[in-house]
Amino acid sequence: MSMTDLRAIVEAAARSEGFEDVAIVRLEDFFAAQDGDYFSRWLDRGFAGEMNYLKGERAEKRRHPGMILEGARSAICVTLNYNTDAPRSVECRDPSCGWVSRYAWGSDYHDVLKKKLDGLLERMRSEIPGPFEARAYVDTGPILERALARQSPLGWVGKNTCLINERRGSWLFIGEILTTLEFPGNAATPAADRCGTCTRCIDACPTQAITEPRVLDATRCISYWTIEFKAEFPQEIAAGLGRHVFGCDICQDVCPWNRRAPATHLDEFQARAGLVNPPLEELAAMAEGDFREKFKNSPVRRLGFKRFQRNVRAAIANSTPES
Ligand code: SF4
Ligand code: SF4
Repeated sequence: MSMTDLRAIVEAAARSEGFEDVAIVRLEDFFAAQDGDYFSRWLDRGFAGEMNYLKGERAEKRRHPGMILEGARSAICVTLNYNTDAPRSVECRDPSCGWVSRYAWGSDYHDVLKKKLDGLLERMRSEIPGPFEARAYVDTGPILERALARQSPLGWVGKNTCLINERRGSWLFIGEILTTLEFPGNAATPAADRCGTCTRCIDACPTQAITEPRVLDATRCISYWTIEFKAEFPQEIAAGLGRHVFGCDICQDVCPWNRRAPATHLDEFQARAGLVNPPLEELAAMAEGDFREKFKNSPVRRLGFKRFQRNVRAAIANSTPES
């Protein structure tokens, strides 16, 4: 089978599964870019906070994809748009409403993407002759997914650390299939960095979490505190979280590349009722059963009821008319 055929099969299969963009990245190009070393330095600076799943052996795996799939040569990277035709999360100035990150307005992307990636893999197995190994990942696996994707036309890593595509903006989920397949020929051409002199995301971040372009100190980031941090908030942290109940989108909301970002066609990512700017008192009044029901198959459910209540309490404490 020729290299062109192999690529064509993978690309057609990815589009059949509904992925908007697909690119094949040679792992040798990922290694050459030394993003693994950059990741280690980021960890050494303590910027991962208590996200222990990023550290130790799993950090090594992120640096060396061959540790999770022996003989891995390539990564098939795909993106799926989750943008919705709804206002920016913090546009609601009514102090009684909370803010929820756009990616959590619909169904849990892990499930949606994994199903599509499994479908892609199944098509590859039925159409590509000869043995090969492959494993699909969505966020949960130890993969430096943006570092892989940035070696391709899928997008560049913006100063806000998100992958940005010139046509689609940054409201994108990334998935990948690591494989032993080789796709000889020219390397993928990385997307040009189009941030230019813009610094909107850095300037807009309410907690100065972007310490320099493309460097995010998670221990200052509202997304980290409201999603990843497990204990009660230290007082000085809680006071800086605004009305964010789950995550924060400010550094993406202000990005000019998201101004004309198209909306997704997928039902799974449409905003559920009451999740765009939810009334905080309603969230506070929810019993655990209500929480489970309202956030069934939602990323918010992963938080667990106790941490959800913690977040709502902090948001209410911060809900002054000026906030
Ligand atoms: S998600 Fe919010 S807190 Fe985190 S870097 Fe972006 S703007 Fe700052
Ligand atoms: S806001 Fe500006 S600097 Fe930040 S990611 Fe977007 S284009 Fe780049």
